[in-house]
Amino acid sequence: MKTYRIAAIPGDGIGTEVVGAGVAVLAALAAREGSFAFRFDHFDWGGEYYKRHGRMMPEDGREQIRHHDAILFGSAGHPEIADHITLWGLRLAICQPFDQYANVRPTRILPGITSPLRGVTGPELDWVIVRENSEGEYAGVGGRVHQGMAEEAATDVSLMTRAGVTRIMRFAFRLARGRPRKLLTVVTKSNAQRHAMVMWDEVAAAVAAEFPDVTWDKMLVDAMTMRMTLKPQTLDTIVATNLHADILSDLAAALAGSPGIAPTANLNPERTFPSMFEPIHGSAFDIMGKGIANPIGTFWSAVLMLEHLGEAGAAARLMKAIERVTADPALHTPDLGGRADTRAVTEAVIGAIRA
Ligand code: ATP
Repeated sequence: MKTYRIAAIPGDGIGTEVVGAGVAVLAALAAREGSFAFRFDHFDWGGEYYKRHGRMMPEDGREQIRHHDAILFGSAGHPEIADHITLWGLRLAICQPFDQYANVRPTRILPGITSPLRGVTGPELDWVIVRENSEGEYAGVGGRVHQGMAEEAATDVSLMTRAGVTRIMRFAFRLARGRPRKLLTVVTKSNAQRHAMVMWDEVAAAVAAEFPDVTWDKMLVDAMTMRMTLKPQTLDTIVATNLHADILSDLAAALAGSPGIAPTANLNPERTFPSMFEPIHGSAFDIMGKGIANPIGTFWSAVLMLEHLGEAGAAARLMKAIERVTADPALHTPDLGGRADTRAVTEAVIGAIRA
């Protein structure tokens, strides 16, 4: 029987609560399927680790998880540590060296969930956002001189490569082609950013020629926020830069009902390195330790993980269990306006898996 080795990295805040729930659900799913098993290795990296060791993960941390089949991640963020340290010290320290260049974020209004958009239900909002996850605005290029002085200067340079843009465009077009509508929207800002974003547009057009069966269009990122809220049904697959997609996917998560539901896959499509799966939300210290974090984003991320592992049947069973639970308002956590807690939702999903 196949045993998948999963590295569980809960991180900080509610990350520890939702990853614990995710591990329980995946274990129940494997028991139900009977055709594969999971072996979870747990890593206590994150903000508390930083306070003890002065770094977010050990120096050989990546080596420790290099040969796992996948990574299940919670969140990185600590109220006593600057956000750029927690982000670069853990999440980006895994994503970038493991070349997880395709960040995939499905967004749908699940059964029982109400969108803040008036009259918008399931069929009108069914998107997949593809975020370039290896360069662009998050390339880490820049610096500060004369720190703290009146003449201080600081730069953050967005760096795009033709190879990096080409591979994310190919990934997005391929994904769009695999969906029923075969429709891709390329998000840009080439009116104001006249170098890298113009190359981004040119590469999109060149790659589009390889996919004549995919209909595609181009949208400025500012106009895109309006189209997402006013005409959600005109969108299907979306590709955007690292920063643009970061922002648009939070908007998408809110439009689909709650940031607590939305999932992410950080994929290394060539499978040279393990891929990483995580809810899109952060550590949410305001609700940490209360046991009320919505675990659905982590469960849905586990569905993406199962699909990546080639366990399509188990992925479909878990998604069906999730949808059965979201359909019942008595099983909604407070972020959805309900009164259920993390444990009740987790037990209900496990119950639906076993049913
Ligand atoms: P970070 O700085 O780590 O990104 P954050 O607290 O600034 O984290 P998020 O956690 O992404 O930002 O979300 C903002 C708010 O949304 C949270 O403070 C919380 O109230 C709510 N929220 C996010 N995720 C969940 C969840 N899984 N369940 C319930 N509420 C959530």
